[in-house]
Amino acid sequence: MGKRVLLHSCCGPCASHCLFALREAGYSVMLCFSNANIAPAEEFEKRLEAFKRLAEVTDTPYCVDPPDHADWLESVAKGFEREPERGARCARCFRYSLTRAAKLREAYGCDAFTTSLTVSPHKSSPTLFAVGKEVDGEHFLSIDFKKKDGFLDSLRRAAEYGLYRQDYCGCEFSLAARRQEAPHA
Ligand code: SF4
Repeated sequence: MGKRVLLHSCCGPCASHCLFALREAGYSVMLCFSNANIAPAEEFEKRLEAFKRLAEVTDTPYCVDPPDHADWLESVAKGFEREPERGARCARCFRYSLTRAAKLREAYGCDAFTTSLTVSPHKSSPTLFAVGKEVDGEHFLSIDFKKKDGFLDSLRRAAEYGLYRQDYCGCEFSLAARRQEAPHA
C-alpha cells in the first residue's frame, strides 16, 4: 500500500478529482471534511451529504470534523467581514481549516495531508501552499490540483456521482456577495 494521505476536502465535487489524482500517484487516501467556514448550518449538511456520498461510491475511508462556526467567526472573520473573496479573510480561513486538518492527519496516523481547495479557479494555489507549509511544512503536500484540467474533471465526476454543487464559496460573506452578483438566483 502507498503512503497514506489525508485529503482536506472543501466539498465532494472538488475532492472527487483530487481523490483520483492522488490514487493515480500511488497514495492511499483518507477523506477529511473540516469546514467550519460553511454557513448556514443547512448548507453545511448538504455539502457534508455530498462528501459522504463521494466516500461511499468510491469506497474511501473518511473523517468529519464537527464544525464550530461561532469559533470560526470569532477567530477568522472578525474584523475582516468586508474583505472580498481572495482577500485577507480567505487566507485566514485557509489557515483555520488546514490547521485542523494537520491535527487530524496526526490523529489518524497519515503520512501527509493536502487540500482540495487548489482545484478551484477561484483559489490561489501559491497562497494555499504558503499556508500549508506554515501550518505543517513537514507533512503538507503542495499539489496544484487545477493542473491537468482538474476543475473540469471535478465537474464531470460530480455529475457522474450526482453530487450537490454549491454556487458560493462557503461563509455568509461569500453568500451575500454571490446574492448581490445574481439577485435573481
Ligand atoms: S469566501 Fe470562502 S475562503 Fe473566503 S473566508 Fe469565506 S468561506 Fe473562507
